[in-house]
Amino acid sequence: MKTTTTTQTGLKILIIGAGYAGLATVIHLRKRLPSAHITVVDQQAAHTILTRLHHTAQHPLADIQLPLQELATRFDFTFVQHAVSFDASQLLAWQHNQYVQLEDKKIEFDYLVIATGAPHVAQTKASSGYDLAGLSQHCLATLLKKLMANYANEALAINIIGAGPTGIQFAFAIEQVLSRCQIAYQLNLFDSQAQLLEPFPASMVRYVEQRLAEKKITVFPQHYFKGEQGTDLVFDDNASDSITVQRSDLSLFFLGKKDVYPLQANSSGQVLSQGQVLTHVFTAGDCSHYVDMGANAMTSQNALRKGKAVARNILKEAGLVPFCLPYMHQEVGYILSIGADDAVGWLGNKHILVKGLPAMMAKEMIEAQYDLLLKGIDCSLF
Ligand SMILES: Cc1cc2nc3c(=O)[nH]c(=O)nc-3n(C[C@H](O)[C@H](O)[C@H](O)COP(=O)(O)OP(=O)(O)OC[C@H]3O[C@@H](n4cnc5c(N)ncnc54)[C@H](O)[C@@H]3O)c2cc1C
Repeated sequence: MKTTTTTQTGLKILIIGAGYAGLATVIHLRKRLPSAHITVVDQQAAHTILTRLHHTAQHPLADIQLPLQELATRFDFTFVQHAVSFDASQLLAWQHNQYVQLEDKKIEFDYLVIATGAPHVAQTKASSGYDLAGLSQHCLATLLKKLMANYANEALAINIIGAGPTGIQFAFAIEQVLSRCQIAYQLNLFDSQAQLLEPFPASMVRYVEQRLAEKKITVFPQHYFKGEQGTDLVFDDNASDSITVQRSDLSLFFLGKKDVYPLQANSSGQVLSQGQVLTHVFTAGDCSHYVDMGANAMTSQNALRKGKAVARNILKEAGLVPFCLPYMHQEVGYILSIGADDAVGWLGNKHILVKGLPAMMAKEMIEAQYDLLLKGIDCSLF
């Protein structure tokens, strides 16, 4: 194994995954290490601001996608578009050899950060409709425009399968477009769970349910998607032990993330594999589970904090700072957007409900903070 260069001049850092966690690591490292060689590898050409994906019901995809080459110029890193796969033995080899081989390209590193996110459950049972991957390629506003152009007298039937936070944010965003265009609609949310938004505080759930009812968005709990029958969708209704068939002009699938933490890490973010601490291999974001302390929920907030913690711990590991606190972040809130004129969530602790204008302002501030971070300005309080 090589010994690490402890002067910042020659430090080589490789980051795989340019989502929230990977970019947070880059931005914090670049501030402290102006002359380090930072390379970022991502399978996509652009960074997608996922927390704003529902905005594409009204705005072009380009508004929430930042070309990684542009960010590479802004933060002075080398960008390589490539998918990287790994397993436990590959991790050990990376720790030992300190390079990643991409076909004919060998990228050496002193520290590697794996920030590849969590895999989303892909929709495989229907030939039509869009899942998260589809909506990152096809702008929802364009899809809605096409539907509305062909709209006759029958109400448009739009079905969202998966009524988690993402499905709900999309339902409100679509409702807003259809209402403004005075299009009659049947907007349905299907979910296999009996209780909507189960991990969230009851008062928040009640607020969302009231708003869904006001906007005439129908929720079908305990409905498990089976497949298609022509243009109809077929569900097992587990509550009544029957089948529900639903006409669909547009189907959107938000089936959640695969509930796997591919990488275990210590509180410095160093990967734990086969009973070893991989001192040169760090991880952050949704692909990581820190075993000691700190929040691991798959949120952008935790991804950004883990990215920042990893950047600091790399500096410590390289001997460039004398000490550094471990990752201890606890979530300070979660706000759900429910249309252009409303939001709801909790701030501080789960008993403090915020809704309406204060919640919208908090959500705006969180998004504005992220925009600033992407310009190199970190104004997070925690
Ligand atoms: C639609 C949607 C809405 C959301 N809304 C909210 C919200 O309101 N609030 C909130 O807190 N959280 C929200 N989340 C969750 C939040 O977006 C995630 O927690 C966050 O994106 C995790 O960041 P990450 O960097 O770990 O992963 P990601 O942001 O997913 O980034 C992973 C990156 O790794 C790349 N990658 C993946 N595999 C490979 C590979 N094999 N090789 C190379 N590159 C690879 C990907 O292309 C991607 O750029 C939302 C998620 C979605 C999908």
